[in-house]
Amino acid sequence: MAIATINPATGETLKTFEALNDTEIAAKLDLAGQAFEHYRKTSFQERSQWLQKAADILEQEKAEFAQVMTLEMGKPLKAAIAEAEKCALVCRYYAEHAASFLADVSVETDASQSFVRYQPLGVILAVMPWNFPFWQVFRFAAPALMAGNVGLLKHASNVPQCALAIEDIFLRAGFPQGAFQTLLIGAAQVADIMTDDRVKAATLTGSEPAGISLAVAAAKQIKKTVLELGGSDPFIVLESADLTAAVVTATTARMLNNGQSCIAAKRFIVAEAIADKFEKLLLDKFLALKVGDPMQLDTDLGPLATPGILQDLDQQVQAAVKSGGKVLTGGQAIADRPGNYYAPTIITDIPQDSAIAQEEFFGPVALLFRVPDIDAAIKLANSVPFGLGASAWTTNEQECDRLVEEIEAGAVFINGMVKSDPRLPFGGIKRSGYGRELSIQGIHEFVNVKTVWVK
Ligand code: NAP
Repeated sequence: MAIATINPATGETLKTFEALNDTEIAAKLDLAGQAFEHYRKTSFQERSQWLQKAADILEQEKAEFAQVMTLEMGKPLKAAIAEAEKCALVCRYYAEHAASFLADVSVETDASQSFVRYQPLGVILAVMPWNFPFWQVFRFAAPALMAGNVGLLKHASNVPQCALAIEDIFLRAGFPQGAFQTLLIGAAQVADIMTDDRVKAATLTGSEPAGISLAVAAAKQIKKTVLELGGSDPFIVLESADLTAAVVTATTARMLNNGQSCIAAKRFIVAEAIADKFEKLLLDKFLALKVGDPMQLDTDLGPLATPGILQDLDQQVQAAVKSGGKVLTGGQAIADRPGNYYAPTIITDIPQDSAIAQEEFFGPVALLFRVPDIDAAIKLANSVPFGLGASAWTTNEQECDRLVEEIEAGAVFINGMVKSDPRLPFGGIKRSGYGRELSIQGIHEFVNVKTVWVK
């Protein structure tokens, strides 16, 4: 994939970039290695001041950053502004809490003194996707930098200007040269970087094939990875649920980021008793969405990020229909305008055991399933290979307990939408990946947990 800015709303190529060659990559790795030697000795207070400054820049220039995000990957501008704000939030969160998260922890043993000390690992490689082009990077970088690691970013090839803007934010915030660098490289250049001794670990957010490829390259060098991969989150609505609230959230949760979010609600699993009503209300909401130019502040749904994503999604929709699915609305690309627009789509009646029901739909397509009771709902929710998030709606306490206990996912949200929050750990199980980002768990992923024992 060429490294380029291609406007998803028009298909126009606006800017292309040369990938770094081997010599240029070596120079960046040298700089990262040297930077780590002095950066690791900086104090929490210094790092915290730089990160707070990064947050200031994000807040002051959110409108400009949002323009770049929307231009490169098509998310509605209002969502891009909110993304820049959330990046500031995660910077401030770690600036305030990292010192306490990483303080020595005393443990009583037979020693006169024994404790756990958290130390940085070194250079960490982050391979990131385009869908939240700022947020995914900051949720890695804020804890990694506060812990004393230095970062290398290989961003998705369709968001190079976002990648360069982020590097620039850290430099302007005062972080030392080399503490955070963007590598404009293709996916094929990643495995080699993992063989460099200075690169100690890696994190990847993206698709399963990409995760496997990075994890294999890292495993060959005995290096740690964190993987945040795909999801097909269930959105369960039981009979006692507040239906009006559930439908509003269902629409937001499916259409977030033009439907291209790992934690978007993708499979709507609804109790038979209320299914007709839910279906009608959801249809009304989908029909009311304003589809259009993502640069307009009142747009709800913009284009998909690339023509390839649109094609893949359309093929999945056709496969769902072939397997018995019924299209309630949408079901096709929007052909009367340029760009990668796909109509908001609802599909019902897909056989629950069909192969297509197991797949992640990365776009504005809702799959609707009917179930007789909570047992069937939980069984269907757990029937896919993914385990990222789950949203479930009920006002019954016992049902709530069962959903929390029995759903196989990294997160369960009751009567609310799955969303990331700097204060809560984020990550998946099963084929959605491993490891956690955010919260205290996130900052502990890339540190040496050193045991100290003094007689
Ligand atoms: P992708 O193709 O896997 O791309 C993600 C990143 O991985 C890009 O930087 C890409 O670079 C790179 N990459 C691709 N193949 C690689 C390889 N073989 N070795 C090393 N790097 C490689 O992901 P996508 O399809 O654009 O993103 C959508 C997927 O990400 C969905 O499945 C979504 O659910 C998942 N996602 C998960 C989370 C989470 O937190 N769990 C968050 C967001 C998205 P190029 O662009 O150069 O190919």
